[in-house]
Amino acid sequence: MFWKAAKSTVEGEFMNNMDEIRQIILGAYEHLVEKEGDVCPYAIKKMEEFGEELKFWRVHPSGQNEFEVRNGFKSYGVNIRKRVCACRPWDVLRIPCVHAQASIMLNH
Ligand SMILES: [Zn+2]
Repeated sequence: MFWKAAKSTVEGEFMNNMDEIRQIILGAYEHLVEKEGDVCPYAIKKMEEFGEELKFWRVHPSGQNEFEVRNGFKSYGVNIRKRVCACRPWDVLRIPCVHAQASIMLNH
């Protein structure tokens, strides 16, 4: 499932199926729980809100644990190991931004 979603992202296909998007968010969530041990409900809510936006971002690996996440002319560098994104650090609230989530999904 994750591979399929990641693959379609790479190929630039739209994910219009909300069920699939939801599955992906749950996957990203599980990934975070694995890594972090706990994720607050607020974070989960936030991640669900990102769901709709996620499909517009394209993730391009640019190095070990590093990704370039693009949406049209906008582009952000993400490092999922350091937990930073060019838009903001995601340490603050422990909620990955939409770019970070897209990267985590691709890396899953
Ligand atoms: Zn970001």
